[in-house]
Amino acid sequence: MSDCLFCRIAATEIPATVVHETSRTLAFRDIAPQAPTHVLVIPRDHHLDVGSLAAADPALLAELMTAAVAVADKEALTGGYRLLTNTGDDAGQTVSHAHVHVLGGQPLGPLG
Ligand code: 5GP
Ligand code: ZN
Repeated sequence: MSDCLFCRIAATEIPATVVHETSRTLAFRDIAPQAPTHVLVIPRDHHLDVGSLAAADPALLAELMTAAVAVADKEALTGGYRLLTNTGDDAGQTVSHAHVHVLGGQPLGPLG
């Protein structure tokens, strides 16, 4: 999708600081980090959100989560980390391409 921000990052049309990649996933630093480590992990293929990704390609959803854990390992988040995926308006999803936030590097506090 040429008008999708994360598809354009996956296509290297928009620069990003890549920290991990596999044949089907890409992980790069969030432009507005909410924690010392804040990485976004996306499928290279366009899927609206994790719900549609789960329905269309559950193996890819598993790869996405595996990649998120690999990012946490690479970033040495030995104190723990949070994997978060906003889905839809109530959750505040702002980019309509499925993604997992990897957050860590300090105590994150409770959700909400
Ligand atoms: P959401 O709000 O949809 O869960 O997460 C979207 C995330 O994308 C936000 O945390 C936001 O800071 C990040 N973001 C928005 N535009 C860009 C961009 O151009 N580059 C990068 N690296 N992150 C972005
Ligand atoms: Zn996309």
